[in-house]
Amino acid sequence: MKTNTPNLFGLSVAELQDVCEGAGLPRFRGEQLFYWLHNRGVETFDECMNLPKTLRAELATSFRIAHPEAVTEQHSTDGTRKFLLRLEDGRNIETVLIPSESEEAGQPKRLTICVSTQVGCPLDCRFCATASMKLKRNLTPGEIFGQYLAVQKRSASRVTNLVFMGMGEPMLNYENVMAAAELLTHEKTAAIAASHITLSTAGLADGIRRMADEGRKIKLAISLHATTDELRLRLMPINKKYPLAEIIDAAEYYHRLTRRRITWEYILFDGLNDGVDDVRRLAKLTRRVPSKVNIIPFHPIGAAYPDGMPMQLLSPPRAHIEEFAQRLRDVHVTVMLRSSSGRDIDAACGQLAVREGAREGQTRRTRAPHSDKHSEKHSDKRGDIPTADAAGKEASTPSGLDRHNPHP
Ligand code: SF4
Repeated sequence: MKTNTPNLFGLSVAELQDVCEGAGLPRFRGEQLFYWLHNRGVETFDECMNLPKTLRAELATSFRIAHPEAVTEQHSTDGTRKFLLRLEDGRNIETVLIPSESEEAGQPKRLTICVSTQVGCPLDCRFCATASMKLKRNLTPGEIFGQYLAVQKRSASRVTNLVFMGMGEPMLNYENVMAAAELLTHEKTAAIAASHITLSTAGLADGIRRMADEGRKIKLAISLHATTDELRLRLMPINKKYPLAEIIDAAEYYHRLTRRRITWEYILFDGLNDGVDDVRRLAKLTRRVPSKVNIIPFHPIGAAYPDGMPMQLLSPPRAHIEEFAQRLRDVHVTVMLRSSSGRDIDAACGQLAVREGAREGQTRRTRAPHSDKHSEKHSDKRGDIPTADAAGKEASTPSGLDRHNPHP
């Protein structure tokens, strides 16, 4: 339940010190609060044991601690767990926990959490369930970090890796995503090392350059999904604003400044981007910077049609996926072939939240796959990115569209 008192969860040490000073308390109380809120994950001030009892009572009357709340959990037979989290305003977001296949002492070697950065997304990728929600709003640093805390509390094993790859485009909520990364990597929380955190973008070149300019230590992944502008524009309307040449240019800039390797995400669609020419073009594009390519089989559910193409999006057969990956290796591209985690649950990002939102009336219209209206809607708008401020005007809805499942 939302209250009128300020929420202290998700604030930095400096912000908490300022809050304490403003409340007439010594600044060191801010550091203590930071530890209790973000390391110990307390839900009430009464649990902050090294604070005087009277102070705990005072804090409870003036402030609140609000976390995202896990309301649903799905388990896959492969160990993937998907959580539906409810925010204070009643919106739903998704978080996925994915164990690596390899194990050490009976535990997965890596346990990766895939977190959301926005409620919905404005980018309208044609293969994505989240896209059908449109953008509702940006998540706050506390709502992003809180996904980690909520899931870690429910996991017997330590979460080792984190990807900003759930609902939303992280570059469109840049400040809050970076503030959440600061919370995760702060010495007092020591939740996850920066080298184990990856931001995945649909190719927003300005954000890529900004990450490089700011010397951000977290890693970068870029979703390509096509080797020609023509196809990429059909799959990802954002390609109008950031075409392939612009993305590659930003990737080269990023590598020049950071010396870090980039990960390219490439979802394979049957008969669309999986040909021999695609192998050749993909190798040529990605070899421009030291990088690896993650090949991800598309996770199809229901009808999913790219705009203007009378073709249903499907995953190629496994043998063809392996052949595609091998052809890339043959031309000296580093390739990781991803399994399709959680195929037996709603593992593609957005599906669970879209369905839940539809049940609760958060979405209003049903989008007909491949309708003329649909094509029309995008014919003159491509490349325009609605901002979170403009996102109050909600539209659209659940469709059978599926998002890629690029979880490592
Ligand atoms: S794939 Fe990612 S960037 Fe594209 S619409 Fe979905 S959430 Fe947004």
